[in-house]
Amino acid sequence: MTHFSAELWFDFARGIASPEQNVLMHHHLEGQCGKCSTELDMWNRVLEVARREGEYSPPASAVRIAKAAYASADRWTWLPRIARMARLIFDSARQPGAAPVRGSMPHTRQFLHRAEPFVIDLRVESEPARKHVWLTGQVLNSKRPGTNVEGVDVILLSEERFIAKTLANPSGEFELEFGDERGLQLFINIHGQRAIGITLPDPES
Ligand SMILES: [Zn+2]
Repeated sequence: MTHFSAELWFDFARGIASPEQNVLMHHHLEGQCGKCSTELDMWNRVLEVARREGEYSPPASAVRIAKAAYASADRWTWLPRIARMARLIFDSARQPGAAPVRGSMPHTRQFLHRAEPFVIDLRVESEPARKHVWLTGQVLNSKRPGTNVEGVDVILLSEERFIAKTLANPSGEFELEFGDERGLQLFINIHGQRAIGITLPDPES
């Protein structure tokens, strides 16, 4: 029997699989495929927890499942493959008169990325001496600026390796703290949307 991939079941769970794919997958489930039912079940629980995170304390079992899924590196390797990359539209370090970055001094850099209709505002504070980075950001819908972007998962990977994950608040704001390293990619996973990828600059570049 041909099964469907984890990525496809994740799309299915989020309701963003194509209509044709939906029909095929429903049909496959009706055939009582245990492997795929388990996969779908896992994603449904992860999504449920992600949606409710912060609103109340979900049952310990759901938290355990979600944590295992989130912590497992291979659960996120699909992200770079399905994400669309955002376009950099502003970088404070590239502005005329921007102060050059000095070796070990703490510094802040701001970025704006666009992936229609979303705009992602990022502020990266680095402390090279401690090899530490604080990232704060906000996801905004440029077509509907007054409305909140809800259900936003933010995942940080380094060459497909899981580094950190957080859930944005109802205003689309999020923050992450991590060690300074190269090859970082940030993924903005908005409920019901194709994931958005952002390549973060390497330290000292
Ligand atoms: Zn199957």
